[in-house]
Amino acid sequence: MRKKIVAGNWKMNTLPSEGAELAKNVVANRQEVCSCVNFIVCPPFTHLSMVAEQLKGSDVALGAQDCATETKGAYTGEISAQMIAELGCKYVILGHSERRQYYGETSETLNKKMAQAYANNLTPIYCVGENLEEREAEKHFDVVKAQLEEVIFNLTEEQFANLVIAYEPVWAIGTGKTATADQAQEIHAYIRKVLAEKFGAAAQECPILYGGSCKPANAAEIFAKEDVDGGLIGGAALKAEDFLAIGKGFAK
Ligand code: PEP
Repeated sequence: MRKKIVAGNWKMNTLPSEGAELAKNVVANRQEVCSCVNFIVCPPFTHLSMVAEQLKGSDVALGAQDCATETKGAYTGEISAQMIAELGCKYVILGHSERRQYYGETSETLNKKMAQAYANNLTPIYCVGENLEEREAEKHFDVVKAQLEEVIFNLTEEQFANLVIAYEPVWAIGTGKTATADQAQEIHAYIRKVLAEKFGAAAQECPILYGGSCKPANAAEIFAKEDVDGGLIGGAALKAEDFLAIGKGFAK
């Protein structure tokens, strides 16, 4: 049985005090949803301590949205994996399309970040996905395959056993356009097949999340698909009620 996961990527939203309130509301109402669903919140770095305080004693896990390529030293403005781990993070989102697109994240930098994450016992939530042009040119399978081969194929078996993949078509992020449940299933199954070519049966255990305008109204249909193990949620993670309602989308 693969883990069912609903992870919230808050991006650069909420002030620290607002983030603490949001986390408090998630914790307060979390029992409305099956304990079989693993909730993760990923606030901005500046909020981590305050949010960690709110999550204490709950089963809602903390994650960060990125980490540095280096361990420590003269890297002004960077935040290391060790720092976020000490603040209570168990997860770190790596390779989000916004970081690839706006901050020049490459497979080379992502390989370093993955190593930093594992060295600090963090579980990476590694994002893959094609943009609109690539989808229209029917290159989405090749794009996703390359994103997996260039980074995930460098992991050891032990590291691979501690990994979450998020498939996020860039054309669906924050646009209100969602991949259909069938489109999601098609590419999730493909991702699992590519992972199985390298890691064999262990690929059956790897949670693959869907991300891109996922909301309470469409989560159940998408999560019902065989190879969809939950969601990475942007906009809808900013309201505790919606975030938790997405978790109710698991019927299996
Ligand atoms: C995201 O960026 O991870 C995301 C899925 O955003 P949204 O849900 O807002 O489309």
